[in-house]
Amino acid sequence: MQRRDFIKGTAGLGLAGLPVAAAQAADYPEISWRMASSFPKSLDTIYMAAEQMAERVAALTGGRFHIRVFAGGELVPGLMVLDAVQDGTVECGHSASYYYVGKNMAFAFDCAVPFGMNARQQNAWMYSGGGIELMRELFRSYHIIQFPGGNTGAQMGGWFRHEVHSLADLKGLKMRIPGLGGKIMARLGVVPQTLPGSDIYPALETGAIDAAEWVGPYDDERLGFHKIAKHYYYPGWWEGGPQLSFMVNLSKWNALPKIYQQAFEVAAAEVNVRMLAEYDARNPPALMRLIQQGVQLHAFPKDVMLTARRESYALFEEESARNPIFKRIYDQWKVFLQSELQWFKVCESPYDNFMDYVK
Ligand code: CA
Repeated sequence: MQRRDFIKGTAGLGLAGLPVAAAQAADYPEISWRMASSFPKSLDTIYMAAEQMAERVAALTGGRFHIRVFAGGELVPGLMVLDAVQDGTVECGHSASYYYVGKNMAFAFDCAVPFGMNARQQNAWMYSGGGIELMRELFRSYHIIQFPGGNTGAQMGGWFRHEVHSLADLKGLKMRIPGLGGKIMARLGVVPQTLPGSDIYPALETGAIDAAEWVGPYDDERLGFHKIAKHYYYPGWWEGGPQLSFMVNLSKWNALPKIYQQAFEVAAAEVNVRMLAEYDARNPPALMRLIQQGVQLHAFPKDVMLTARRESYALFEEESARNPIFKRIYDQWKVFLQSELQWFKVCESPYDNFMDYVK
């Protein structure tokens, strides 16, 4: 038996994810890839995920499969990572698929849609509910294969200079909120703005905008919004569990030795778990620090939540009528989400609420 045949044979025994042993390593080529991240290095949780990914892939392949990570803007603009992977400018990228809803709104299901899944449900849909397969149909038409690559958990609803008592207070409000969340906010009377992270603080400070959303306590604290806008709202209903993704050019993927593909997939899955863990560990102390500095927490008023939810699902129905792949994904996604919500309502939510209630 040839050594390669032996390795192929072990895949069926579940051994394919093992690191390349020194004796075998000589059989495998040295490969160097470039990964374009959409994110700046200052976002240590989100950006570092790509570095963690590269380190793990190298470790699993005896250092033979090397991925060099570039921050947003270094090789390609942060919002053009998908384009760069599609045309082969880079072999792979790390991005948020909802940046690409201008190409097809269905990309949002690979990250987050308003009033969509939380992080647990997103993982359930992706890994075990048919989500990856459905999303790969869309990505294939862009010559890309994608892998879940991190999740921030439910995001906060953002920073407001003045309190929002009801839906009426949103009319004419200028808020930094990009993507589908911005589209829904516009239906509620908000004037949405798309600004990169570095431009939000000065815009809030000069009063050019009245409100801004970013991520959550840990990332928001670093950008300093609490020094200007004291009212911090929850939840970020447009991002209940946004997933990031690793995107790989399909030709480059198909040319990889199978064991390198396994290393990539295993490392991506690890990063997907690890990022959520980091956010869940870092957000609570960051929130405490913000509150100690005078930040006031508020829930969005009920009429805001209910109207935003109604408008979100109206938008999905409108898009389904004109976009066949959106409809195909949405129809399956919606049924899966409803089923998840029933289960979470019976067991997970009551448990969480009880744990919070009993001091
Ligand atoms: Ca956000």
